[in-house]
Amino acid sequence: MAQVIQAIRGMHDILPRDIPYWRRLEEVFRRVAQSYGYEEIRLPLVEKTELFVRTIGEVTDIVEKEMYTFEDLNGERLSLRPEGTAGCVRAGIENGLLHNQVQRLWYGGPMFRHERPQKGRYRQFHQLGVEAFGMAGPDIEAELILFTARLWRELGIEGLELQLNSLGSLAARQAYRERLVAYFSAREAQLDEDSRRRLHSNPLRILDSKNPAMQSLIAGAPRLSDWLDEDSATHFAELRALLDAAGVAYVINERLVRGLDYYEKTVFEWVSDRLGAQATVCAGGRYDRLVEQLGGRPTPAAGFALGMERLLALLREGGREMTPASPLVYLVMAGAGTATAGLCLAERLRDAMPALGVRVNCGGGSFKSQMKKADRSGASIALILGEEELAEGVVSIKFLREDRPQQRIAQDAVVAWMRRWTGHEA
Ligand code: ATP
Ligand code: MG
Repeated sequence: MAQVIQAIRGMHDILPRDIPYWRRLEEVFRRVAQSYGYEEIRLPLVEKTELFVRTIGEVTDIVEKEMYTFEDLNGERLSLRPEGTAGCVRAGIENGLLHNQVQRLWYGGPMFRHERPQKGRYRQFHQLGVEAFGMAGPDIEAELILFTARLWRELGIEGLELQLNSLGSLAARQAYRERLVAYFSAREAQLDEDSRRRLHSNPLRILDSKNPAMQSLIAGAPRLSDWLDEDSATHFAELRALLDAAGVAYVINERLVRGLDYYEKTVFEWVSDRLGAQATVCAGGRYDRLVEQLGGRPTPAAGFALGMERLLALLREGGREMTPASPLVYLVMAGAGTATAGLCLAERLRDAMPALGVRVNCGGGSFKSQMKKADRSGASIALILGEEELAEGVVSIKFLREDRPQQRIAQDAVVAWMRRWTGHEA
């Protein structure tokens, strides 16, 4: 036997039995997006590598070590998208969607990061993301957060905690960063390897360290909130007041710095205590300088992205069983001429009732083996077309899931019968 080729580590098939959960998340998201007036945009999976280097930041984990980057046949350096914001901003500028306009956009799909695969962390994973352009105030941030809170409610996901922080303006953060580097440099011997590496490249990320040995050192570090510029502090207070008024609970987490360089002012995460180390299901914030950084006119912006796999883990754990849609009808055909007649009968049924779900037994087989397949298909009824039925212009109906006697009806009456029966079922 030929050797089996397996999927790439960290990249997973989504099987039919998983699909109902994915569909539900997608449908609820679509509905909520619609109810806030957001429009869908679809973006390429591959972009120029430079786009991500310029937006996400050269010294972030993503760009430093997680990107799938390759040269295509023209010698261009390209990357599989590790996130959606960069591509969305690029598309917004390129298509003239951002200048002097307000845009509320959403997108979804696979993202790629070469991380160590583990529960809740994959190399191909899926996000649903939202970006709002042209609005500088905290009101749009409140809207984004209300959007997510409504999403959890409609999905029936409980127990998520909203964590908020303000990173301040770039200048304020720069000043704070210097203080932080001074603090950690004076205690360099106590830093772990990761933190030592970040000390001069991305010192704020040290605050985000999960290493228990680092915690007391981090607790004693200068606090970002003491360095906030006045504008950011007011902005943050206004956001909190809006959330209070709307009844959204949150906690301030001063260590929330996010892994991407482009955020400023508000950042937020929704965190679960039921997912182990991969606890964040949704993350976002404000990124007012990104559009300009990519060659557009200055445009304030804010957004978030949610990790679908992590949310689905919660949905599965808490929610009702969801099973894939089964066909309602399984067509069994046995005897000369029945295959052709059956194929045509099934087409007539689909013409009249496109939502019915008719699975035709292809590949022949004995009556008994076909009935077995009908049962395994999950169908509610078997339509049986044997030589006798064919000769008489009728079809037999066998109920597979309820104790009812078999019926015989004229082929011309099948559509009418089905209409009555599905009405009765519903
Ligand atoms: P983490 O700290 O868990 O690495 P992140 O800060 O890198 O997350 P973002 O870039 O903000 O994550 O992406 C938004 C969301 O996408 C995350 O909150 C998470 O739910 C999900 N996500 C990110 N990376 C992965 C991954 N490798 N596998 C599965 N989901 C992911
Ligand atoms: Mg990450």
